[in-house]
Amino acid sequence: MMLSVNKLTVAFAGKAKFAPVLEDLWLELCSGETVALVGESGAGKSVFIEAVLRLLPASCRVTGEIHYQGHNLLALPQSEFRRFLGRELAWVPQSASGALHPMLPIGLQLMEPLLARGMKRQAAWAEIEPLLESLDLKPARQVAQSYPHQLSGGMRQRALVAAALAQKPKVLLVDEPTKGVDTERRQQVIALFQEAKQLQPELSVLVVSHDLDLVEALADRVVVLYAGQLVEATSRKAFFSEPMHPFAKALLAALPKNGLEALPWAESRSVTGCRFHPRCPIALERCQSDEPQVTLHEHTHVRCWLYAS
Ligand code: SF4
Repeated sequence: MMLSVNKLTVAFAGKAKFAPVLEDLWLELCSGETVALVGESGAGKSVFIEAVLRLLPASCRVTGEIHYQGHNLLALPQSEFRRFLGRELAWVPQSASGALHPMLPIGLQLMEPLLARGMKRQAAWAEIEPLLESLDLKPARQVAQSYPHQLSGGMRQRALVAAALAQKPKVLLVDEPTKGVDTERRQQVIALFQEAKQLQPELSVLVVSHDLDLVEALADRVVVLYAGQLVEATSRKAFFSEPMHPFAKALLAALPKNGLEALPWAESRSVTGCRFHPRCPIALERCQSDEPQVTLHEHTHVRCWLYAS
């Protein structure tokens, strides 16, 4: 097991009390596996990545455990935690423009972590050059000498992936890689991560996305979040062929190929019972008062009274 998350709860400080954004999340990521975390905006997907990378502000309350190779990342002193960052746990953030330093050439930004580890410049370039070439950033030397504004949006995103892979991490955390991109770019992004897996097959990837085409193309397993809670965790095949939770079914029904059936919005975080009940087309009476727990059915974990024994 590369990453194991147990009872992770994240709460932001509100006016009078802490408001949970993620609650009791558990998740496992095996070596070489790709897990997709899906859900609507505000479900807590990106907060999850920020919790793993300890990027949340100090005013946040984070409880639970995030185990990586025997270490609880949340309990490690900052100096020890930093040993894992980049080298073992790498991050591809949402915005390529914001993540790259505008005043430094791409090559230097990619080599910098290797140089900081004491690697000689020539040796660092020998690592970076084939990576740039294999991610279609060619000619590599010319790309390396370019500043971010001289590259297209797609090339900047490739450079970010190259920066993440350059240190040969064991776990790659990817945040909404297709957010705001058109259909053509979307296919390129999907191909980019397929290439990244071919380059490093043992790499474990956790991708946060609302884009189900990307999820279908990349994921081995799918974890569905709703209003900060896990509502379904299953294989990609089961998610796309026989989703169990009504919200998972609604996500799939909203795809253009399935008729674009949009689910009406309703406040969910402050309700009693099942958080999905204000929007659920098949809610039972008890759904309004009793909160369902996650139960296992064959190979699918689901949080819904319909499947409670
Ligand atoms: Fe719908 Fe009830 Fe299941 Fe919630 S517990 S998803 S309201 S059927």
